[in-house]
Amino acid sequence: MVRVRFAPSPTGPLHIGGLRTALFNFLFARKNNGKFILRIEDTDQLRYVPGAEDYIIESLRWVGLDYDEGPDVGGPKGPYRQSERVEIYRKYAQELVDKGWAYYAFDTPEELDAMRQRLREARSPVQLYNHITRSEMKNSFTLSESEVKERIESGEPYVIRFNMPADRQIVVHDIIRGEVKVNSNTLDDKVLFKSDGFPTYHLANIVDDHLMEISHVIRGEEWLPSLPLHVLLYEAFGWESPQFAHLPLILKPNGKGKLSKRDGDQMGFPVFPLDWTDPKTGEKIRGYREWGYLPEAVINILAMLGWNPGTDQEIFTLDELIEQFSLERVQKSGAKFDPDKARWFNQQHLRRKSNEELAGMFRPILQLQGIEVDDRYLLRVIELLKERVEFVEDFWTKGYFFFEAPRSYDPKGVKKAWKEQTPQIMRELKEKIIQIQDFTSENIERELKQWIESKGLSFSKVFTPLRLLVQGSTSGPHLFDMLELIGKDEIIKRIEYGIENIKK
Ligand code: GLU
Repeated sequence: MVRVRFAPSPTGPLHIGGLRTALFNFLFARKNNGKFILRIEDTDQLRYVPGAEDYIIESLRWVGLDYDEGPDVGGPKGPYRQSERVEIYRKYAQELVDKGWAYYAFDTPEELDAMRQRLREARSPVQLYNHITRSEMKNSFTLSESEVKERIESGEPYVIRFNMPADRQIVVHDIIRGEVKVNSNTLDDKVLFKSDGFPTYHLANIVDDHLMEISHVIRGEEWLPSLPLHVLLYEAFGWESPQFAHLPLILKPNGKGKLSKRDGDQMGFPVFPLDWTDPKTGEKIRGYREWGYLPEAVINILAMLGWNPGTDQEIFTLDELIEQFSLERVQKSGAKFDPDKARWFNQQHLRRKSNEELAGMFRPILQLQGIEVDDRYLLRVIELLKERVEFVEDFWTKGYFFFEAPRSYDPKGVKKAWKEQTPQIMRELKEKIIQIQDFTSENIERELKQWIESKGLSFSKVFTPLRLLVQGSTSGPHLFDMLELIGKDEIIKRIEYGIENIKK
């Protein structure tokens, strides 16, 4: 039975890297008829940020990653919030102490600093609390059993540390990376249980993955260094370990280092799924949703960051991804984030929507402008602009002139299209347009072209300024379709207004 989990810590807004981890877990679960679980890892009281858990849940909902078990939906292996499981971890930490796989330590922060300082001065390349240094610190190895007991009973702060064995060759297997070998001498006696009464990530994570019967741990590459410790923890408890898959990093657009919020700010793209306001600083961050991305597009963008189908197909629905996904096709090397490609994905998914759906999404934007139009008109506008927009909002920015006359004209367009003789040509053109009886796209095109030829003018001398008068700029949707839709009377008004106002 496949059971996987997404286990975020509520320490701030969920980064898209986290959302990708959730997606890959979800795809793997659905593909294998397994269960997808949400577990909130909130045992680090210092880094806890209010609102972050709700943000995570809303983000998953928005992109449609439904989980089968989780803090708000319940399930047979709950509770799914680690802060509600503290007693469980205490019990398992004790079990490791009893088995000799963990021990008590009473060192103060100052004593720990002094130890590291001594090692630096002795030019030791690493400053670890390990099988060597523990012998000079205050812990179960150096204090008598009764002294340890006394200190604990008197309420002295203590931690429980893992008893990392000396010189063990640890071999771990990762589905994406193959075999990874580490010598235990490079690892330290990690704290498993803290003096504040909470477990650390490592202990809680292993205990929960075991109790929640997780079959595959799929998470970001940044957790790979923790894997040897985790594997030893499974051994210490005598539990079978799940299988592991560490997903590649998401890199900056230039490929140099991890994608960060700063990159998004500098280059103008979101790195978080939803808007977020930092509760401490009040700083506002824009999300994919508010930026105008479709959830389908976000899923597609994330899926292609580190996975590929092995074919040319790039556009996927969630169902298609479920069908084709496999961990074997996830790459080891980092995946570069491409902001242009992200917009392209949005455009592709917009194009796949029906005109009716798009009209439904665009109407609220029009309403904000105080504009009401009938469905027939709106659907025609959508049809004319559909291939030209990347976001729903672009229907307004690239097509507002379907709803109101332009009040200003693009200076570059004016410079290009408005020559000395243009006002006169436009006056004559207006008279010609008044005479067109059958005001349909094809007929307008036919009659205007005939007229231009009879006058010995070029098409561009007439059509470019005409477009400028009608829409305020010189590139846009199909000219004659646009003229038909906006209608003869309105076109004539715009020509008259423009002749009077351009260059004033
Ligand atoms: N709480 C960890 C995180 O925030 C979970 C890592 C894991 O999946 O084991 O990413």
